[in-house]
Amino acid sequence: ATVLVTGANGYIGLWVVLELLVRGYIVRGAVRSASKVDVLAELVARKQPEARHRFKGYVVPDITAPGAFDEAVKGADGVVHTASPVSPPVDDPEAFIKPAVEGTVGILGSALKTDVRRIVVVSSIAAIASGTVASPGVYTEEQWNDQAIRTVQEQGKDAPRIIKYNASKALAERAAWAFLEEHKAEAKFDLCMINPSWVFGPMADDTLPSPSALPATPSHFYNMIFAADRPAALSDREPQCLNYVDVRDVTEMLIRALEVPEAGGERIVANTQAVKWEEWLLANQELKLLPSLETVDPATAKQLPPHVFYANDKSKRIFGIELRTVRDTFKDTVEDFKSRGWLK
Ligand code: NDP
Repeated sequence: ATVLVTGANGYIGLWVVLELLVRGYIVRGAVRSASKVDVLAELVARKQPEARHRFKGYVVPDITAPGAFDEAVKGADGVVHTASPVSPPVDDPEAFIKPAVEGTVGILGSALKTDVRRIVVVSSIAAIASGTVASPGVYTEEQWNDQAIRTVQEQGKDAPRIIKYNASKALAERAAWAFLEEHKAEAKFDLCMINPSWVFGPMADDTLPSPSALPATPSHFYNMIFAADRPAALSDREPQCLNYVDVRDVTEMLIRALEVPEAGGERIVANTQAVKWEEWLLANQELKLLPSLETVDPATAKQLPPHVFYANDKSKRIFGIELRTVRDTFKDTVEDFKSRGWLK
């Protein structure tokens, strides 16, 4: 089968490309420029030499252009759509919202004219509730972050960046479900939304020159735990408590979402647990990895303040995946960063 992955050079996208190749798929990777196609093709050839002939790069310069994905999607059986602004250079709400919404609806529109059977979109827990402002409690796939959409409508440019991002994810997801509803008579495909929490874990891209080149979430992980200039006090590391999932588990879920019939028509949270920075440091201590990091009290490291938790029962039921633990993710991330010479 042939799968188109958008945002193929991104943190999650690249893991999905490589893992699909391992599993025998024919893979198309959409990125924004010819030079990015070249870099990606070289990376694929280096990491999956056997599979290089099953990979092809596509240039989609502007995902908001009408028919942008027509060529890339023609002849594909499935799509994993990851391309969406995570940290755009400008702070205008439209810099988040327009590519998120129009890119997602655009790929559905391009797929209408084809035999694509399933489209998997990377949404986010951000489309369910904003972890930074929602009341503590358990949140599920039944909930929608309309609060973030309202905040951006009211505050525009002045809304916090994270809320603009959250609104973009909620609006893109809503637009995708609405588009499919509107075109259900013609669409040969169904849709699955995977809603990950904060994604951490090792990088598939072996060319990153330095920690400053890390994508947004692994960069935050690095800055809060390893960077020389990390806040000295744990209480100054934000957010105090977050929900996380390992990038390789997200990858597994995105691929199963293409394959498992029951995933069709569903939105599915991808989340391991709520965690505070201290628990990562406890993992370090127990695994005796980096003596230079702070020591913490094992009695309190896993005690969480009142917090938001995104329920993962549905993903467990549909995918049955054994999720990696904080210890697994920490160990593999440290090994990865060490192999790049970023940690000693
Ligand atoms: P990355 O920044 O590594 O990847 C983002 C990808 O999207 C890149 O390929 C990037 O291309 C592309 N992209 C960004 N903006 C645009 C745009 N305006 N037009 C076209 N392409 C664009 O981040 P992740 O891999 O972490 O994110 C991938 C997806 O996962 C996103 O949809 C994000 O919202 C979602 N997500 C991520 C989570 C996380 O914790 N990391 C959690 C939940 C959801 P380029 O390299 O050219 O900029």
